[in-house]
Amino acid sequence: MTARDWTADRESVFDRDAFTCRHCETVGDDATTIRLHPVGDVPREGTVHESALVTVCADCLDMLETPSAATAVTAETLFHRVRETTRLQGASISDVATFASLSTSLPATLESARDDGTEADSDDAMSDYRCTRRDVLLSMAVVDAHLEELAVLESAVDSDVRPSLEAFTETAATLQSGLIETVELSETVVAGLERCHGCFDSLEGKTCSTCGLEARETADWRHTSGSIAFDQLFGTINETLQDASETTDTLTDRTTALAERLTA
Ligand SMILES: [Zn+2]
Ligand SMILES: [Zn+2]
Repeated sequence: MTARDWTADRESVFDRDAFTCRHCETVGDDATTIRLHPVGDVPREGTVHESALVTVCADCLDMLETPSAATAVTAETLFHRVRETTRLQGASISDVATFASLSTSLPATLESARDDGTEADSDDAMSDYRCTRRDVLLSMAVVDAHLEELAVLESAVDSDVRPSLEAFTETAATLQSGLIETVELSETVVAGLERCHGCFDSLEGKTCSTCGLEARETADWRHTSGSIAFDQLFGTINETLQDASETTDTLTDRTTALAERLTA
């Protein structure tokens, strides 16, 4: 990654995340053991807004940013990596479910906070949203890094193991894209509230003036009157998440098939 100008936000991000790796929860004491990592789509130019930065430890940053070279691996190591990917995807599903549930509750939460004049409640909901979104994006980025590593290994494994490994990575990729779709639809709820789905500031136009993120498209989710069809959007979010979760059964079968192949 090229050097980016995010110095302006560094200190507040370290404080916000309490110098703790948001993936493995390692606690560091300074900016050499704990680093910043951007999540989600960030603008190509300029400062990365703090809403898109998370703290990670040096080991996790290395795992996220350095693709491994294809080397011969033992059956044991390969299976360990497959199992780890499955475990991380399981964790991602529950992170996505939390994010989806939080996003779909936002319209009602903000409305009742507005009606009651309790600004603190809506501030809490917004900061909860930003934090949950960063965590889910990081969790998916970690899975992506593991899937990339397995894709590289495909060419290095014995040809009798390769089909089982390919079947596994294909299913894992299907699950991952279902989860990405669920996250994007959940972010669309926020765009429907005329807020930026990254930093949650009010949106005017297509690009957020605070963090530079492009707004999610809401045209498909509007009634003819122009208002947002939240119920329809929520229904689709639940279905998409449900479909993705059901893929885990296939993933388990493929993990078992691969294990049998490796120990044959
Ligand atoms: Zn870590
Ligand atoms: Zn923004």
